[in-house]
Amino acid sequence: MTDIRCDVLIVGSGSAGATIAATLAEYTKLSVVLVEKGPYYGAEFFNQRELDMMVLLAQNGGRSTVDGAIPVAGGECVGGGTTVNYALSFDPIPEVWNRWRRQYSLEGFSFSDSANDYGVEGLNLAAALRDIRKRCNVHAPADSEVNDNNGLFMDGCRSLGVSAKKYELNMQGCIGCGFCGQGCAYDAKRGTMVTYLQDALRDGVRLIHHCSIDQIHFESAGSELRAVGASGTIAPTKTGSRPNSAPSGPISIDAKLVIVSAGAIESPALLHRSNVPDPFDRIGRGLVLHPSLPIAGVFDHEIVNYRGITGSYYSDYFYADHGFMLECLFDHPIDAAIALPGFGVDHFDLMRDYSKLAGFGAMLVDTPSDSNRVSWSAASGTPQIAYRLSDPDKARLRFAAARMVEIIFASGAREAILTSHEPLTPRGNAIFQSASEAGFCEKLTFAPNETLVSSAHAQASVKMSENPHLGMANSRGEVHGVSGLIVCDSSAFPTSCGANPMIAIMSLARYQGRRIAGEQGRYVAGRL
Ligand SMILES: Cc1cc2nc3c(=O)[nH]c(=O)nc-3n(C[C@H](O)[C@H](O)[C@H](O)COP(=O)(O)OP(=O)(O)OC[C@H]3O[C@@H](n4cnc5c(N)ncnc54)[C@H](O)[C@@H]3O)c2cc1C
Ligand code: SF4
Repeated sequence: MTDIRCDVLIVGSGSAGATIAATLAEYTKLSVVLVEKGPYYGAEFFNQRELDMMVLLAQNGGRSTVDGAIPVAGGECVGGGTTVNYALSFDPIPEVWNRWRRQYSLEGFSFSDSANDYGVEGLNLAAALRDIRKRCNVHAPADSEVNDNNGLFMDGCRSLGVSAKKYELNMQGCIGCGFCGQGCAYDAKRGTMVTYLQDALRDGVRLIHHCSIDQIHFESAGSELRAVGASGTIAPTKTGSRPNSAPSGPISIDAKLVIVSAGAIESPALLHRSNVPDPFDRIGRGLVLHPSLPIAGVFDHEIVNYRGITGSYYSDYFYADHGFMLECLFDHPIDAAIALPGFGVDHFDLMRDYSKLAGFGAMLVDTPSDSNRVSWSAASGTPQIAYRLSDPDKARLRFAAARMVEIIFASGAREAILTSHEPLTPRGNAIFQSASEAGFCEKLTFAPNETLVSSAHAQASVKMSENPHLGMANSRGEVHGVSGLIVCDSSAFPTSCGANPMIAIMSLARYQGRRIAGEQGRYVAGRL
């Protein structure tokens, strides 16, 4: 048994966990332990083979909703989602945070550069964001870095008068290999593994990977509970991982403050199995997924999409009125084979055209519903993700699908393919022959396991709200009714943050790290 004592235990080393660890190490003298369930794979491990790199993903890429209908991707390795993501970088949206302030009674999170939230010098979201952007080198790519797929998407949008713009990306020295989703073999993607984690290690944070936290520990503190640490298991180090700082076996960690940053699926699962008090039945409820619907276009010529930066253009043209963005991305062959419809010879024929395919997708800002939730199943030993698209969200996705069909034909495709087995066209499939067939998208029912929508942006499952009826944690991320326990990651957003979430999550973590450093007295109470 490994027994450790520290001031702060952080569970999860992704967008939030690594950022908050580095921030605490930078601004305090606290002893910080950062634990990560997955291995510590570095650039030397990323061999650009799609199948091999499935080990970077939660449940080896097999995580999905309970009905198997929606794959819910997440990173399960040091760096979490930032190790496997596409580096698409969106600043936190002030209107969203202002709405949260009104609807969820959030406090703090000032966007004014001169604000000192909670009386902490220089604490505001603007400063946190500025730090993140600088450390991760968030910038727009040069025109020369835009690959064929993104160029076609941009052409298609513009020829229909649909505005398209460049993403910003957290990259430095990118050579355009096209494998962001399989881990960057060149350390050019500025995820937390190569930025904040390295800062944290340099400043004395102890990282223990292969370490899955099973339970948070509590003791009574008057009428409240107080978190006093956690326990779990360290797995043997997997082939290809960097060495660990603790032996495999059970581990118990005493901590004065426990910060849960395990992501929007695992954080609620951990709270659930730790029996965190939940008088208003909030844990895991109101999960949002940003359901994404892809489209592929078959062209008459070869297109080199698997090289170059995977995503460099998107469109927010329909965002204000319909709540979705069109985002240009592209799948490598295995993911493409999973997504494309058909069986046997039909599917084979589609895949034979792989080198002539272009694609992009609609990412929907979904409407929160309490019936969409994450819970923990002791029987299966996995989180259970219950999720159904609402009728209004289906209507918005139908509209998005029709616009996507039009755009992909406008970019020169001879055929458009939705990832669906629904009989939409007169030919009984979801393969469109011309833009004039876009109206057939009205027939989409989004029946589970018939039409593929996927998710990589789970959020809002342990919501912050000053009102315990609406959220599990207050604006500081402190779980209501429990001291010494903070939730800080994508789960803490009250609803969708309105865009691809990485930078907003990192900004939240930078903010909370600086706040904890500035409010150490709040956590002292004889402990910190
Ligand atoms: C394939 C993919 C592509 C994406 N592309 C983009 C993009 O381009 N732009 C963007 O903005 N967003 C993107 N995202 C989303 C973004 O990466 C995530 O929203 C973000 O990383 C979530 O941050 P987090 O800190 O909440 O959790 P994560 O980054 O998921 O980190 C949580 C960590 O906690 C660990 N953990 C879980 N349970 C335990 C436990 N019990 N004990 C110890 N450790 C545990 C996990 O292994 C994981 O490493 C993408 C995500 C994926 C999966
Ligand atoms: S495209 Fe650039 S950032 Fe992405 S994996 Fe390749 S070198 Fe790294």
